[in-house]
Amino acid sequence: MEKGQENVEILWKEVMAKVEERLNDNRAYDIWLRPVKIKGISANKVQLEIPGTTFEKGFIPYIGLIREIFEDIAGWKPEIEISYTGEEKRTTPPSPTPTIEYETSLNPSYTFDNFVVGPKNQLAHAAAQAVAQSPGIAYNPLFLYGGFGLGKTHLMQAIVHFIQERDEKNILYLPADVYLNEFIQSIKNKTTHLFRQRFRKLDFLLIDDIHFIAGKEGTQEEFFHTFNFLYDQRKQIILSSDRPPKEISFLEKRLVSRFEWGLLVEVLPPDFETRVAILKKKCEIKKIVLDDEIIYYITENVKDNVRILEGVLNRLFALSTLLSQEIDKKVVDEIIDGEYYNKRVVVTLDSVMSAVCDYFKIKEDDIVKNTRIKNILLPRQIGMFLGRELTGSSLHSIAIKFGGKDHTTVLYAYKKIKTLYQNDQYIKGIIDEIRSTLER
Ligand code: ADP
Ligand code: MG
Repeated sequence: MEKGQENVEILWKEVMAKVEERLNDNRAYDIWLRPVKIKGISANKVQLEIPGTTFEKGFIPYIGLIREIFEDIAGWKPEIEISYTGEEKRTTPPSPTPTIEYETSLNPSYTFDNFVVGPKNQLAHAAAQAVAQSPGIAYNPLFLYGGFGLGKTHLMQAIVHFIQERDEKNILYLPADVYLNEFIQSIKNKTTHLFRQRFRKLDFLLIDDIHFIAGKEGTQEEFFHTFNFLYDQRKQIILSSDRPPKEISFLEKRLVSRFEWGLLVEVLPPDFETRVAILKKKCEIKKIVLDDEIIYYITENVKDNVRILEGVLNRLFALSTLLSQEIDKKVVDEIIDGEYYNKRVVVTLDSVMSAVCDYFKIKEDDIVKNTRIKNILLPRQIGMFLGRELTGSSLHSIAIKFGGKDHTTVLYAYKKIKTLYQNDQYIKGIIDEIRSTLER
């Protein structure tokens, strides 16, 4: 067997072993999964071969689980392409929802040790450690919020690992959708009392992506009582969401107010240095060797989302080991484009102008017209500098936009700010900050 194909088989075996373990249903596994063969892996697809159309119906519900486990192991979520033994291939719908229940398992690498701390997440990190060390006292509830892929789940699971290693505490981590589903199941099975009991025994309850229960009246009601019960017993509650409680639409007022009782902490996108450190850490964990040049290149091009940062790394790894492909900037570009469904943001002179005005709390008119006011000079020159750095506009149009006399004004400003950027930490900080709002 060719080396590439051999690696593919090994990876597939590993995936299927995990699937079997998670399913915990030998019969279903034997019937629907054992016969599936892997044919190959391409940049974003996994090609599977199954016995036939009748089989397909039974197999499809497991696709979601396979993709998820594949992601756990290989680090990216592939499309699944199915062909029947001896027939033409066809692609299945992108992400059929799995209808089979399985336990949520923790990611063993989401530990405090593996979490890289930087200025944008240090508060969240410190708060997570504080509640793990002195539960029920320091901050209750702890409410972590922030954009997708910034480490909230990682921190929550780090708390779980930390506790499980040290204490005999009852601790439960659940994504909110699992909480919701289990609650619904319990209604169906007339076992809501058991469902309730399970939560009331806990010392720690962590619900990830709590915004998911917004608008689901019954679940909110149930959670409200569980929350009160645990809170009164001084048990630690930790929640995460993509936004602060007040901004979660359809979340009941009484829950909003309870979520605000403790500590709200925002997790922000990491700065450049932290991103580099995260990438290096992930390389270390996954035993991937990458040139610094490539690491910096990825870091410069993926700014607002650590999950994508990591996704890029995993795809690179897969390409280089499974397909023995050389890693250069071109390959990285392709992968980033693929990972980044949001695409890279295009910065315009207008957006530079409004970012500068926002930062300095001044009006656009002041920048353009009040050329003599002293505290306008720096913002204007920074605007010109960023306009030149980030937009590809001509010196002429930058001059017009920022009220400069002509292109020489822009050139002068550009050189001056560039020197300041290199020599003055304070100015560098300002510029980086404005730039980070632009490139998000
Ligand atoms: P969220 O729950 O905020 O959407 P996750 O916790 O799932 O984000 O993080 C996405 C990925 O990024 C995970 O693999 C996580 O390990 C990684 N990650 C995020 N922040 C950090 C960090 N500061 N250090 C190390 N890894 C991080
Ligand atoms: Mg999460």
